[in-house]
Amino acid sequence: MEKTDVDRLRRLDREHMWYPWTPMDDWMANDQLVVERADGCWLIDPEGRRYLDGRSSMGMNLHGHGHPALVEALVAQARKAGETTLYRVSHPAAVELAARLANMAPPGLQRVFFAESGSTAVETALKAAYAYWVAKGEPERSTFVSMANGYHGETLGTISLRGVNNDQVDMIRKTYEPLLYPSLSFAQPDCYRCPVGMSSGGCELDCTDSLEEILVREKGKIAAVIVEPRVQALAGVITAPEGHLAKVAEIARRHGVLLIADEVLTGWGRTGTTFSCDAEGVTPDLLTVGKALTGGYLPLSATLATEEIFDAFRGGAFLSGSTYSGYALGAAVALASLDLYEKDDVLGRARALADVLTAELEPFRGLSHVGDVRQLGLIAGVELVADRENRTPFPPQDRVVERVCTLARDNGVLVNAVPGDVITMLPSPSMSHDDLRLLTGTLFR
Ligand code: PLP
Repeated sequence: MEKTDVDRLRRLDREHMWYPWTPMDDWMANDQLVVERADGCWLIDPEGRRYLDGRSSMGMNLHGHGHPALVEALVAQARKAGETTLYRVSHPAAVELAARLANMAPPGLQRVFFAESGSTAVETALKAAYAYWVAKGEPERSTFVSMANGYHGETLGTISLRGVNNDQVDMIRKTYEPLLYPSLSFAQPDCYRCPVGMSSGGCELDCTDSLEEILVREKGKIAAVIVEPRVQALAGVITAPEGHLAKVAEIARRHGVLLIADEVLTGWGRTGTTFSCDAEGVTPDLLTVGKALTGGYLPLSATLATEEIFDAFRGGAFLSGSTYSGYALGAAVALASLDLYEKDDVLGRARALADVLTAELEPFRGLSHVGDVRQLGLIAGVELVADRENRTPFPPQDRVVERVCTLARDNGVLVNAVPGDVITMLPSPSMSHDDLRLLTGTLFR
């Protein structure tokens, strides 16, 4: 006999749910956090316990939960039309949103193709890049080059971009290997474990030589280079040295290959500029956005392209799309979110909060098992090591970071564990300075 609704929910969960990336035996053996409601940056379980969301629901939440302007935009659009599909039909919200995105993006990205998730926006960019070369009469350009350990999503195309980093075995890539697209990877700009052996100072971005080598060796076979601009969050918050993105863009241009910037996580001020590309004055050929595009209220993403890319499809069609592409509800909420982005000076708030985060992270550097602390804006990572001197990782079976994250959760704050023993924080720009201090203070104890 189940005593409470929560007991019933837990039984149904065990009987029917299948969670993403989750070892299900482990999951079913333990009572899990159930989030029933949310308020600002706080998540609330059915028993009323509150958890401070230090990961913005994976980088989605921009304005806090329950924002009246977003709720109103959603309801107002639903009263007019929930969805109409963009297949040979237009609607005002999608058109307005496309124009707004083109205005906010790095100059030259004028065309907007809508999808639903970050993965499908990147998949769209890959297809557009390859189809561009087909249209130009160079179909042999079918290989993509990505940064080692990059994360671009979960479709087969985006998994193909997860270049394996030497000894680090990427289980996801390994599992799907026979199904993947042709791809190659170049060194990640990991300054803590420099791939070209620099210790400190004197960096001339030599890690980009490996990109240059690939483009020389594979001349005529590469469709595009894809990067997470200036920070690889899910690889363990690998923050690139200044100038790295501009250098990658220069190399791609010089070798005549396309550049795709995946801004699914970094868009909307998270790295201190509206887009991370803005900081180094880079306009890629294709740029993807998702996650916080609707403030995290609805799934919507977009792939932005230059007119040069778009023109290659004139006279024919880009053979891609989906039923929900640019649906009206998502577009209307995204417009309301971008209104708030400007009206509430989200960029200014993100920068001010990032300064608080920098100050709060400083004491972590002195802890005996903290190897490195990395941060770009509101993306931060604390790498734990068994031995600081030699930068020796903990044995994987110790699951040290997962244990820290579980302990943090039990103390009311949510942060992420990413491979490489990195505790990752992605606070929303809407989080108060005091709440951020509570988050870091709980971890530091
Ligand atoms: N690209 C980047 C840089 C991401 O960080 C993510 C998700 O974390 C994705 C793409 C995939 O987005 P989604 O989970 O919405 O498919």
